[in-house]
Amino acid sequence: MRMRIPVVLTLGFLLLTACRGPDAVGGSGRNTAQVVQGAEREIRGARVEQEVLKRKGEILRYQLRLLEEEQNRWEFSDVPERREQWRRTRAEFMVLLQDERVAEFRIREALQELWEAQDEATGWSQRYADAQREGNIDLAWPVDSIREISSSFLDPEYEERFGIPHEGIDIPVLQGTAVLAAADGVVRTVSDRGQGFNSFTLVHDDGLVTLYGHVSSFLVTEGQRVRHGDQIARSGGEPGTPGAGLLSTGQHLHFEVIIDGKHVDPLQYLP
Ligand SMILES: [Zn+2]
Repeated sequence: MRMRIPVVLTLGFLLLTACRGPDAVGGSGRNTAQVVQGAEREIRGARVEQEVLKRKGEILRYQLRLLEEEQNRWEFSDVPERREQWRRTRAEFMVLLQDERVAEFRIREALQELWEAQDEATGWSQRYADAQREGNIDLAWPVDSIREISSSFLDPEYEERFGIPHEGIDIPVLQGTAVLAAADGVVRTVSDRGQGFNSFTLVHDDGLVTLYGHVSSFLVTEGQRVRHGDQIARSGGEPGTPGAGLLSTGQHLHFEVIIDGKHVDPLQYLP
């Protein structure tokens, strides 16, 4: 309830800004539809954020469980640095479980970074909505999965756990696996704020947009042209590591496909 007034004011401001045309919005080049969509998203966002924060205890315990499972699964006890890192991360989670305010801050941080990246990706996709597409859209797998998909598109289990819809697929791969461009394109938004949801977006030549999330490091910069199969980043997702945020399903690549401003199931376009 506390959110209502600022949200309404923000909506008013954004609508006003939108009515003044795209030039008034500044250098980002976002059009009226995008700004209105951003305002709608903000209202929805405030509500959804409360849903996510309600689950913070469960989310933290789930991240901790994943961390423990991964230690057992990958047996890195013979690598001292990894063991030390694991101990530190585990201790940090213990602190977060005791400190609600910091936990809320961290979850909100990851959520905001995810939404901003998705808004940017959707914006790019809308800008190319009229692009001529010849024949079928073909994408290649950005990583080779080591197990079956750990979370599917709009997976109800994911939404139950985190309180938000899952607008992509989670492809399980070991931390640090090379992430490959799914098709030719240009690197657009690169988002790296350390401990949030690190991601980047590729705008492909036919206007299709792909988004790669929870990456632990980047091998390209914004504006760079890439060819299908080029290495563009390293995967992440292990709780407590850079880019994993607190909304991860373990070591994996989060992969989204956006066409004409809408998220679609990536499995429909992968071989
Ligand atoms: Zn995901």
